[in-house]
Amino acid sequence: MKDISFDDLFGDQEIDLECPECNGTFQVEFAIISKDNAEVTCPHCNVTIRMEHDDTTKKTLRDSDRALKDFNKSLNDLERSFKKFK
Ligand SMILES: [Zn+2]
Repeated sequence: MKDISFDDLFGDQEIDLECPECNGTFQVEFAIISKDNAEVTCPHCNVTIRMEHDDTTKKTLRDSDRALKDFNKSLNDLERSFKKFK
């Protein structure tokens, strides 16, 4: 069984961002902004915005990553116990 990754779950989810320059809103895929220092371009004013993660964001992503690993481990355990019935 393939491990589920963050991108599998949220990769194509779009998040509303507000441009700090023109205050226009636009949507960015989660897979893009979940990476530290990702650069996105505002479609309204073409300014490049660097998505620096603050400590809270980093911690949240780390915690989520750990939770996901635990989840994958549980799934693998489950798969193993199902196999016993074969
Ligand atoms: Zn803008």
